[in-house]
Amino acid sequence: MKTKLLIIASFLLVITISLKTLAQGDPFKNAREKMVKHDLKGRDINDKKVLSAMGKVKRHLFVEKSLWNVAYNDYPLSIDEGQTISQPYIVALMTQCLNLKPTDKVLEIGTGSGYQAAVLAELVDQVYSIEMREELAKEASLRLKELGYQNVKVKQGDGYFGWPSYAPFDAIIVTCATNQIPTPLTKQLKEGGRLIIPLGNTLFHQTLTLITKVKGELKVKQISGVRFVPMIGETEKK
Ligand code: SAH
Repeated sequence: MKTKLLIIASFLLVITISLKTLAQGDPFKNAREKMVKHDLKGRDINDKKVLSAMGKVKRHLFVEKSLWNVAYNDYPLSIDEGQTISQPYIVALMTQCLNLKPTDKVLEIGTGSGYQAAVLAELVDQVYSIEMREELAKEASLRLKELGYQNVKVKQGDGYFGWPSYAPFDAIIVTCATNQIPTPLTKQLKEGGRLIIPLGNTLFHQTLTLITKVKGELKVKQISGVRFVPMIGETEKK
């Protein structure tokens, strides 16, 4: 009797889950697969885990409905407060440069919509993300919770100072432009840790720069030309 009830309960659970999945649907599955194939694999994104994460995260859910139809095109999209989500290729490239392991602890500066944080959360155990603009921080935190990302912690604040209480980090990703590397961030990087940051003129374009901490020294590698919205706050005074 007990076994019978258990079988019926499991059966009902499976039906409920299937109906839920069906109702939620995935109308942009093809568009997402096409994006991964053409704009990422078709270029130099070859890390299988990064490709899989990019194929999983529903970018359209991070922008307003009027942009859903173009959410998988390879260009930046506007979010609130005059900010933007980077084009998928740049999100994938920055993530690939970080060479992440599942056990890594990652810090992001510039949560924005939470899209990049979600991609990171598919790849590592712990993601910490700081957003300067209060509304964006609140919205992104809620969105990530609703989408089931329990391994992302978002806070409102100036990312220039990092997040000392959770430091040191295996990797740090800065998704706003600055003309110098914030010192607190390099201090919060573990030995062997990686930091990716758009460095240069914050009003025009920057160079995506990868910094690796090797025996306490910072090794610098320039990756490509990029254009990001400027970092605000403490960095502006420097
Ligand atoms: N990674 C985001 C997009 C980032 S846009 C995404 O996937 O959607 C850059 C973000 O950096 C903006 O939301 C901006 O408000 C934020 N920002 C600018 N200066 C900052 C600072 N000092 N600390 C934290 N966030 C900052």
